[in-house]
Amino acid sequence: MTGASGLSSSGRPPVLERIVGQPVAARLLEGALRSPVHAYLFLGPSGTGRRDAAIAFAAALICPEGGCGKCVACRETLAERHPDLDVIERAGASILVDQAHEVARLAMRTPRAARYHVIVLVDFDLVEKAAPALLKTIEEPPDTTILIVIAEAIAAPFATIASRCLHVGFRPLPQDALVSVLVREGADPSTAASVARAAAGRLDRARLLVREPGFAERLRRWSSVPGRLDGTGATVAELTDELLEAISEPLGVLRERQASELARLAEQASQQGDRTIAGRAAIEERHRREQRRVRTDELRAGFATLASVYRERLQAADLPEKRLHGTVAALEAIDEAANRLVRNVNETMLLEWLLLRLDS
Ligand SMILES: [Zn+2]
Repeated sequence: MTGASGLSSSGRPPVLERIVGQPVAARLLEGALRSPVHAYLFLGPSGTGRRDAAIAFAAALICPEGGCGKCVACRETLAERHPDLDVIERAGASILVDQAHEVARLAMRTPRAARYHVIVLVDFDLVEKAAPALLKTIEEPPDTTILIVIAEAIAAPFATIASRCLHVGFRPLPQDALVSVLVREGADPSTAASVARAAAGRLDRARLLVREPGFAERLRRWSSVPGRLDGTGATVAELTDELLEAISEPLGVLRERQASELARLAEQASQQGDRTIAGRAAIEERHRREQRRVRTDELRAGFATLASVYRERLQAADLPEKRLHGTVAALEAIDEAANRLVRNVNETMLLEWLLLRLDS
């Protein structure tokens, strides 16, 4: 089904060139285009490009040229507004039973314009009670329906569903892959290198940090913390406020991107009527999750910076014993704080708890 005219010089459909830093997944999907199965599971940590890859693969399936990247079908699919593409976001903490039934209903629909109707399910690992309804959909879709399920991991209750899908694995991106993506997208090499180090294999975080000039300054601020501690609660409170403000800085860039996504959604809704299932509320819910995630990432990066200060201190040959104990205790406290960085942690309390345990 891949038209020769649509191919890039590498032989890969141009639209699949959008899958960056995941050569194994890209090759697998390229092969899958020759005779697509009805369900794919895109499995891997968030931030590794699973959603972008799902949309690119959908475009390759929907495009009459097999993913030329230029035609109306490709452009509409990549903009997530092709009538034969449905992207389902979970509306709350998990995909609800109602949403699962809606997916089942959608899956029965024949394509409107393309050869296939593609349904992308985002954050499938949180389906919980919706699993039985979705299992039926995945087992018996019409030949023209292709499901792409995105998940971080598969918990035991969903093993049956997972076994019905072709697995496509996504891994944290190596630093050099992150650097080359950032440079290709216009970053200067030295910024790209420092951002890639702090992105922990996540393309979304790397892209956020590279557009956000305060990043290096924030790391400096975290490194200055030990030198500023003086054993008083007042200083701890002051530093806590300062660090809380710092972790909110990258939200500006994120909110801009989220606002343009909502604007695009509103424009789409006015053009064709709102046919998305979860629609705006689900997207706003995802935006809140993304904002929480950015703050947690910032705290993690800050803790790592703090730890590097104390680890460096340990290298000093003539460290007095009391100082040695304090440094080891600080590293343990940072480790403990990082472990406490779970969902809905009280950031103020966590930072105060940590700073009170750090040696100056
Ligand atoms: Zn095309």
